[in-house]
Amino acid sequence: MNRQIERDIRICPCCNKEVERGEMDFTRDCHGIAFRLVCFSCWEKLMRKGFDGEYYSELDECIDYEY
Ligand SMILES: [Zn+2]
Repeated sequence: MNRQIERDIRICPCCNKEVERGEMDFTRDCHGIAFRLVCFSCWEKLMRKGFDGEYYSELDECIDYEY
């Protein structure tokens, strides 16, 4: 029984700690697009202002999203 193998450990890009995937969530940028996967405590800090990353306008993005 190798239960350890089933644990999905990631490094939080914000605090650089090892965190289980189940303890992480994607932040959203100012347009609601998934930005990066961080641990819950970083998520709360990062999302306090409403979005993660830098504010940008649609004009800065060259990606076509179908909504
Ligand atoms: Zn973190």
